[in-house]
Amino acid sequence: MAELVPLPLPLLLRRAFHEYRNEGKIFDLPGSKFFRGFPDLDLSVEFHGHRASTPLGPAAGPHGQLVQNIALAWLGGARIIELKTVQILDELKIPRPCIDVANVGYNVEWSQELKLERSLREYVSAAMFLEILKASKLPGEGIPTDTVFDMSVGYSLEGIRSPRVRSWIRSMLDATAVIDELRPQLDGEWARYRDLPFPARISDTISLSTFHGCPAGEIEGIVTFLLVEMGCHVCIKLNPTLLGRGEVEHLLHDVLGYHELEVHPPAFENDLLFDEALDLIPRLQGVARAHGRSLSVKFTNTLVVKNHKTFFSDGEMYLSGAPLHVIALNLVKKFRERQREPIPVSFSGGLDANNVARAVAMNFVPVTSCTDLLRPGGYGRMIRYLENLGAAMRELGVNNIGDFVVGHASACPASPEEVNAAGLRNTPILVAEATADPRYAWERNKGVPRKIGSKLWLYDCITCDKCVPVCPNDANFVYETGAVDVAYDNFELAAAGLRAIPGGVFRIAKARQFANYADACNECGNCDIFCPEDGGPFVEKPRFFGSLETFHRDAGRNGFYIDYARNAIHGVIAGEAYILTVDRAADRACFERDDAAVEIRLSDNRALGWTPKSGVAGAARTLDLLPYLKLKLLLESIGDTRHAHFANAAALPAVAHGNETHD
Ligand code: SF4
Ligand code: SF4
Repeated sequence: MAELVPLPLPLLLRRAFHEYRNEGKIFDLPGSKFFRGFPDLDLSVEFHGHRASTPLGPAAGPHGQLVQNIALAWLGGARIIELKTVQILDELKIPRPCIDVANVGYNVEWSQELKLERSLREYVSAAMFLEILKASKLPGEGIPTDTVFDMSVGYSLEGIRSPRVRSWIRSMLDATAVIDELRPQLDGEWARYRDLPFPARISDTISLSTFHGCPAGEIEGIVTFLLVEMGCHVCIKLNPTLLGRGEVEHLLHDVLGYHELEVHPPAFENDLLFDEALDLIPRLQGVARAHGRSLSVKFTNTLVVKNHKTFFSDGEMYLSGAPLHVIALNLVKKFRERQREPIPVSFSGGLDANNVARAVAMNFVPVTSCTDLLRPGGYGRMIRYLENLGAAMRELGVNNIGDFVVGHASACPASPEEVNAAGLRNTPILVAEATADPRYAWERNKGVPRKIGSKLWLYDCITCDKCVPVCPNDANFVYETGAVDVAYDNFELAAAGLRAIPGGVFRIAKARQFANYADACNECGNCDIFCPEDGGPFVEKPRFFGSLETFHRDAGRNGFYIDYARNAIHGVIAGEAYILTVDRAADRACFERDDAAVEIRLSDNRALGWTPKSGVAGAARTLDLLPYLKLKLLLESIGDTRHAHFANAAALPAVAHGNETHD
């Protein structure tokens, strides 16, 4: 199985600049989907004392792990970015596939897949990437840029107090050493950004994830440790089990009609109980206040349910999406009715463009999304969240979030107390509306994406383009081949020489082809869910690696690596390994397979001579020219730098800086 291998900062920058200038997009997100602010509205909010230009963010998960995730979420309008959860066990083997959002939304995903030290570099690189993007004004001028990175850590007191996790948090609080380590990478065309005042404090807020079954005392211990010893602001992510088994089952089955879903009883028996939470949270608010920190709660984590499907191998899976939206809202309502003192609330659970304005009206900061961003359009769906929020604000005649929550424009902006009170008032009304709304019920969510019964191959497909934006890591990409129709001979290779024998026709019907950058693909399976054809784009389409090392390790039966310096492509096609090295000026190629090296004239694909590989006897054998033709085409078309993607980032020329704004 392929492992995630982050790209170096200069390559990410080079790709982004080329792609935006030549194609008007960054990491495949079109400029038309970038959030550039609304001139008449101020969407900014305060989160743990920090200003963020919008209340929107990705929930800790697949959209907050790599630089490109964070950059894409930011370009789409996220300004409170919950980073993927880190924990002491950083070498876990996560089952694959791990995401199934065919209709409702299930996962068996977990924490960061990178080791702690690598996650740290990735988050710091992401912060630097955004600073460079802002300084360059590449995506435009006047974009509201106030951004908060929110750490997410899990899962037990022992793990969080361990020296490695402590040191990780300290490095996020002061990343000077990592920034200084990364700065020298900013040379050549990036030297102009090397001395930018990159903020050393990447984050001082932590959202805490706990294991199902984590006792109240342990949660208290972790939060106190994070507030007092680590000096962070803390948000406690609460589990939907807090609502109680009876109420969750009532909502799931009787109200929403998800009869096939069975909850996991031990989760309810062992998790934090509602009354315990009501006692615990004010106590921790006191600790936070005493130490000049703030505390908030998040509704909610995913809900553990029994696996009634065949997509995952685990016995349990984690529910998100439409049903979780209603469960999470009802939990907020119950909590707000009985809380002893107001506490800031952030929200996750089935958020989408249609309910985001209501969530903001309940004074949730941030409102975070995950399942919806895994659907067709991906990060490009975020702009509609903000457009719909903006439209709802204009309808009310207000121009800032405080007044929106209060429900009317005030002479001076609404005070925090007024906003809190209005958020509380709005909650029961909007929760009742959502609970009764058929769009969250099983009837409206039982459909699955259509499969058309055809099989994917290396080339050609129905070119629906869905696999590119649904990938959170932008691991799938488009390249162009033009239609191909090449009649070719095969060759018999004998000791006495070689001779042409009947071959075939290499035919490609579609000009636009799809490929996968395996170093950014964690085989989550999401693109397979939405691809109308069978086989999975990340399995069947050509899989490119960023280095010979990862190619040799993970190519399996289908993998490629292009060595741009040597104009060579290494490939494994249907389990057979090949190398093609091209000398265009001499009109020659050297095509190597296990048993032979063959010299081929590029212009007419004629084999000119061959030598057996050492240790392989020189008996006659057949040269099938088809793998050669496939490699030749991939080398030419993937290496074509008119389209920038991760598989040709290393071949892109240096960026010439000028007026960066492109529109
Ligand atoms: S390419 Fe497909 S399987 Fe790989 S990370 Fe992206 S969505 Fe997941
Ligand atoms: S591989 Fe599948 S999802 Fe991707 S463009 Fe082709 S048919 Fe569509």
